[in-house]
Amino acid sequence: MMNSLHGFMPSLPLTTMNCSNEPEISPPTGVVSTGSPRHKKARALKSSSRRPAKALCSECGLCDTYYIHYVKDACAFLNQQFVPLETKSHGRTRDLNNWDDVYFGVHQEMMAARKHHPIPGAQWTGIVSSIAIAMLNQNLVEGVVCVQNTKEDRFQPRPIIARTADEVLAARVNKPTLSPNLSVLEEIEQSGLKRLLVIGVGCQIQALRAVEDQLGLEQLYILGTPCVDNVTRAGLQTFLDTTSRSPQTVVHYEFMQDFKVHFKHEDGSEETVPFFGLKTNQLKDIFAPSCMTCFDYVNGLADLVVGYMGAPFGWQWMVVRNDRGRSMVELVKDELDFQPVTSQGDRHGAVQQSIPAYDQGVTLPMWVARLIGIVIEKIGPKGLEYARFSIDSHFTRNFLYTQRHYPEKLAQHIPAFAQRIIQQYQLPH
Ligand code: FAD
Ligand code: SF4
Repeated sequence: MMNSLHGFMPSLPLTTMNCSNEPEISPPTGVVSTGSPRHKKARALKSSSRRPAKALCSECGLCDTYYIHYVKDACAFLNQQFVPLETKSHGRTRDLNNWDDVYFGVHQEMMAARKHHPIPGAQWTGIVSSIAIAMLNQNLVEGVVCVQNTKEDRFQPRPIIARTADEVLAARVNKPTLSPNLSVLEEIEQSGLKRLLVIGVGCQIQALRAVEDQLGLEQLYILGTPCVDNVTRAGLQTFLDTTSRSPQTVVHYEFMQDFKVHFKHEDGSEETVPFFGLKTNQLKDIFAPSCMTCFDYVNGLADLVVGYMGAPFGWQWMVVRNDRGRSMVELVKDELDFQPVTSQGDRHGAVQQSIPAYDQGVTLPMWVARLIGIVIEKIGPKGLEYARFSIDSHFTRNFLYTQRHYPEKLAQHIPAFAQRIIQQYQLPH
């Protein structure tokens, strides 16, 4: 455990960072600025209940605003465009001959970290909330797009623009459901905010990057989390009802690196269920179709990504994609322990076996599941290899789903890096 990480160098002075210094790509057809005729036309539009991605819509929130005008270019499920957006955001796109790039996206550095003093009630140790609070306190940003919950339901997302540390803190912990984070985009332009941090998952960030130039911002920082297998609120209930011993008291859960789902209950008690004991036959259909066709698990367009899956158990995993992301880590580095990322094991056999098992909805008796869990925890993939295991399992499953349900989308929708990953496996037809 270390206080500072080898290779973690101070970034450029924060004041010199400006989105306009980034390499340019062409904005969506015909758009040059928030004053352009196309943007004025967009502003004249009313919020819509229309969702052009139809069943594939992840409810990212863009279409709840007049930015729906850009949806054909911007929606992650209508127009997959990692290459131009990575190039614009990070100065380059993934090197397909570099497996770390292929799996984890463009990055300068990866590390494992955790807070010396975790934030009570955060999803992990609260690195995401701490960075957002530091950015507000140091006046680097005037607002933070994040997700609180509604009064009635702790898991029902309520996106807001937080202006204070307390509002950011109130947004800590995952709302493990589809969340319309971008529904606050109109508010940004109307409130005159010029410096903003957005916290979000991949599909939200893809659409945000695509309309970034239309927001009228001077500075945009993006703090992403990985995301996979998200669900509607009703789908979440099915998951809780079929998996937890006490669904109504769950306050927090996470699929962790020890191959178990960890539930935390209102009374502080913990419950674990091995992945291999999940009732796959009942859960197969709860994931949103958007998530079954998503290949942006690692949030490739964020400046900084904070998750857990590439880190040892109990630690968070940080992927610094560019100088803006580096400057965000700088702000909180004295509050964190760091250690280098490591990798152990070989995922390939386990992934290959999981493909038909998932496809056929195999559900194991709990004692068998626990036994497999114990063995795999001892000899299974760890660190970055665990992250690769999870990416491989989801990408192969999502490829099959897309091929079966949206064959016409295969060519355009599956990015080259995902194709490289999938090609390592034999898939059923
Ligand atoms: P906290 O300080 O508790 O802050 C959490 C932040 O998440 C808040 O700022 C809040 O605004 C934001 N948030 C909450 N719900 C949502 C939502 N539905 N959409 C967008 N933003 C939201 N990491 C992995 O390594 N592998 C995974 O498979 C994985 N799946 C995830 C799925 C979802 C739906 C989400 C939201 C996150 C997922 N993560 C995953 C990230 C991980 O669970 C933690 O969120 C991350 O490590 C940050 O922890 P923290 O303690 O620093 O966050
Ligand atoms: Fe609109 Fe977002 Fe749904 Fe795409 S995913 S249709 S951009 S709300």
